[in-house]
Amino acid sequence: MSKRLVLFPLPLQGHQTPMLQLANILHSKGFKISIIHTHFNAPNPNNHPFFRFHPIPKTLLDSKASIADVIGLLNELNEKCVGPFREVLAQIVSEIGGVACLISDAMWHFTQGVADEFMLPRLVLRTSNPSSFVAFVYMSVFRDKGYLSSKGDRLERLIPELPPLKMKDIPILGTCDLEATYELVRDMIEKTKASRGVIFNSFEELEGPALATLRQDLQIPVFAIGPFHKQARPFSSSLLAHERDCISWLDCHAPKSVLYISFGSIASVDEADFVEIAWGLANSKQPFLWAIRPGLVRGSDGPAPLPNGFLETIAKQGRIVMWAPQDEVLSHPAIGGFLTHSGWNSTLESICEGVPMLCLPCFGDQMVNARYVSDVWKVGLRFENGLKREDIEMATKRIMVEKEGIEMRHILAYLKQKASLSIAAGGSSFTSLEGLVSHIFSF
Ligand code: UDP
Repeated sequence: MSKRLVLFPLPLQGHQTPMLQLANILHSKGFKISIIHTHFNAPNPNNHPFFRFHPIPKTLLDSKASIADVIGLLNELNEKCVGPFREVLAQIVSEIGGVACLISDAMWHFTQGVADEFMLPRLVLRTSNPSSFVAFVYMSVFRDKGYLSSKGDRLERLIPELPPLKMKDIPILGTCDLEATYELVRDMIEKTKASRGVIFNSFEELEGPALATLRQDLQIPVFAIGPFHKQARPFSSSLLAHERDCISWLDCHAPKSVLYISFGSIASVDEADFVEIAWGLANSKQPFLWAIRPGLVRGSDGPAPLPNGFLETIAKQGRIVMWAPQDEVLSHPAIGGFLTHSGWNSTLESICEGVPMLCLPCFGDQMVNARYVSDVWKVGLRFENGLKREDIEMATKRIMVEKEGIEMRHILAYLKQKASLSIAAGGSSFTSLEGLVSHIFSF
């Protein structure tokens, strides 16, 4: 009888998509799949006819279910979901049976305790990358050394323990409630260490050094089996509707001529920065496709407060959508650059399509991802000091039309090939996935 895996995604776009992709990959290896999920941002079962879905009773007041305060939301979910999750897991274990293990998001730290009660092995999926996870593992060191109180010029200094990261790249710096964020990170790391292994959506050739550090520091098996989206069967896990007509607009553009701009599903910018980005794009004269989702501009959840005269100015140059089919956009021949908030899914999707990045990280792991894109992999530029329209204009030209962009594309072509090879028979991710399957069979 084939074994059943119980997966529990965090109900945020950038976490749910890779968990469902992982579910598809493991299903293709012969496992039966049960997905436990919250009502908040529930996945659509119709897109996954081979999986069983198990909603947990409504645990959050609608007023609390907001992504505007992500740390508050994550703490609330970790507190409120314990009882209901335990009940649903008990039902699956006793009524369906054959459960080999639980695979839950690293941020669902409470699930380690519940898994222990059932004597069920737990594997962790960390939906961000190994390099930023190293920074999270070091967070208690940063705290003891006083790095978390860095201000002013000190923010530009290198972190001696983790170059080329700078103090300003510390993933929790600048969060409204530093202590609450620190505790969440501490719990995530402790409960990951207590698990039976951690899975990453990355590959050895891209992040070998970080993976080696984690294998040494965590002392649990570490599996790098990405990129997931190049292995999972295609399905939609989008929480917002994709505006697909932008693809025919892209069809009318020359190869590598369009800059794509998106800040993912959670990040937000001040209105003043939003205005600078808008005019910087217009002044670059480069064609662009901009995904402006509701809530992108802090304090506004209605239509985007585009500056006066902007739409008229860019009528022939730009296209604005609320939510783009990003995978399709990035793989379109017309795309030549990506202005991104540096979420991990976006970063990996861009690397896999060979698209150079302009990084405007907002918080958390995005800070580390952006540093790696610019200083380690050298496949993009990071905006370092504030945001002026001239910087956006110049940086756009640097990656779209100047020599720097061409050099980045060469490196990206190499990384793209390494990503494909890693998931082919005998490749690093292929082999790591085989190791993961054997590991699960050993429980
Ligand atoms: N995405 C999309 N359309 C958009 C913007 C984003 O489909 O207009 C997808 C994108 O392809 C990625 C995910 O949303 O898979 C965002 O994840 P990421 O980790 O980049 O950022 P987060 O939203 O978690 O901050």
